[in-house]
Amino acid sequence: MGAYNHNEVRGMNEPEPLIPIHEMDKVKDECGLFGIYAPGEEVAYLTYLALYGVQHRGQDSAGIAVFDGDTFRLYKGVGLAAEVFNKFSFAKFTGHAAIGHVYSANSKEDIAANAQPLAYHHLWGRLAIGNNGCLVNKEELCNKLAKKGAIFQTNTDSEVLAHLIASYALDNIEDALVKMQKDAKGSYSTVILTKDKLIGLRDPHGIRPLCLGKMNGHYVLSSESCAFHIIGAEFIREVEAGEIIIIDANGMKSIKVGNVCPKHCVFEHVYIARPDSFIDNIGVGQARRNMGHHLAKEFPIEADIVIPVPDSGAFCALGYAEESGIPYTIGMLKNRYIGRTFLQPSQKMRDLSVQLKLSPIKEELQGKRVIMVDDSIVRGTTSRQIVQMLRDAGATEVHMVVSSPPVLFGCYYGVDTKKDQLIAVKNSVEQTRKFIGVDSLYYLSMEGMLDSLGKSPENFCVACFNGKYTVPVPEEK
Ligand code: SF4
Repeated sequence: MGAYNHNEVRGMNEPEPLIPIHEMDKVKDECGLFGIYAPGEEVAYLTYLALYGVQHRGQDSAGIAVFDGDTFRLYKGVGLAAEVFNKFSFAKFTGHAAIGHVYSANSKEDIAANAQPLAYHHLWGRLAIGNNGCLVNKEELCNKLAKKGAIFQTNTDSEVLAHLIASYALDNIEDALVKMQKDAKGSYSTVILTKDKLIGLRDPHGIRPLCLGKMNGHYVLSSESCAFHIIGAEFIREVEAGEIIIIDANGMKSIKVGNVCPKHCVFEHVYIARPDSFIDNIGVGQARRNMGHHLAKEFPIEADIVIPVPDSGAFCALGYAEESGIPYTIGMLKNRYIGRTFLQPSQKMRDLSVQLKLSPIKEELQGKRVIMVDDSIVRGTTSRQIVQMLRDAGATEVHMVVSSPPVLFGCYYGVDTKKDQLIAVKNSVEQTRKFIGVDSLYYLSMEGMLDSLGKSPENFCVACFNGKYTVPVPEEK
């Protein structure tokens, strides 16, 4: 048995986070994953670098588990990967395979406890797991497992999946994973590290992303392909819906379960994924540009300039400008040095947050009729402040176009949107327009959004727009 450096969690006594500026009024994904099987390489350090590529998917904690076949090591903590691994020595953090995880918490109390990867002892030996997604039957599974004696230390789905896999008491993890695919309902993209294997799997609908790459002949897994670029890996393909990928000394093996029905999250393209990632056979930046083309066709507006809300509106704004012929320009600058600034949760500080984060470029805006492009509207409070800022800077008209339909339903598959926070639920488009204070407001049609992806609309989850949940959710039961 090797040394077991489990749950070395930093930051347990740090002050509670207040309002994270970078997350205000935006939907957010909750996790990013990475995995590497590469004997002879610095797998832990490469994982650390790759976590920068998925950092936008989770900023509250980061962790890495590494295995050399004998000694299993785990290090994780609260904060960005750069903060958690600042001054960390990778020299003894060696092995042939590693997994990494970044996480955004739903509640500030959960951050340290739910930092991943999680690590366990099992019949097969040690096992580390990191997950992105949300099990809709978590409560039911937890109850069943608890009756068999399971004790939970976190409220993560990763722990439920680990217990579920272990509860089958099978000799072979591959058979246990196939069985788990039948019992676990909802979304999960998961990476698992065992003594001799790196495993990646997606739920039968492939709701959350996971892709496969290669680096110097070694296999790597990541939530998004942009992480591959950092470590010099090339994108091979996406892990398919319901597919289990097993990587070990013999190479790569794929197990596919029956009854798969791809329903990839459309919000990955709209906002979550980085524009330099490749998802669902299309570059995310190109998909957003296509959305801009559709918006310009659906809603031609007479204006002088097209500007993005940084950064997620950039590619869509470019698309709108290309299609409409109206010049694209940068109307506001994002302060890149705010980092993880947290504000006092008072209205005054909320009001100041936009000024801290965004600054108008008066020379570009003065006397101009402006089309402002954003990806979505959640509460509308930030959009309202931005619009006022543009008017104060001299814009004579502000029109807003949004690259998705109104968000009307909460997400139960791993994206933090709650129905009671959504402005579109209780307000018509006209009421929202008035609240935000724009001259006109247009949302991209569902057809336009899906057509921008160049793939059958049947392949996408659009539940937060139409309420048609692929996997029945708790409210509907
Ligand atoms: S409900 Fe919306 S955010 Fe959630 S998985 Fe479906 S498309 Fe994505």
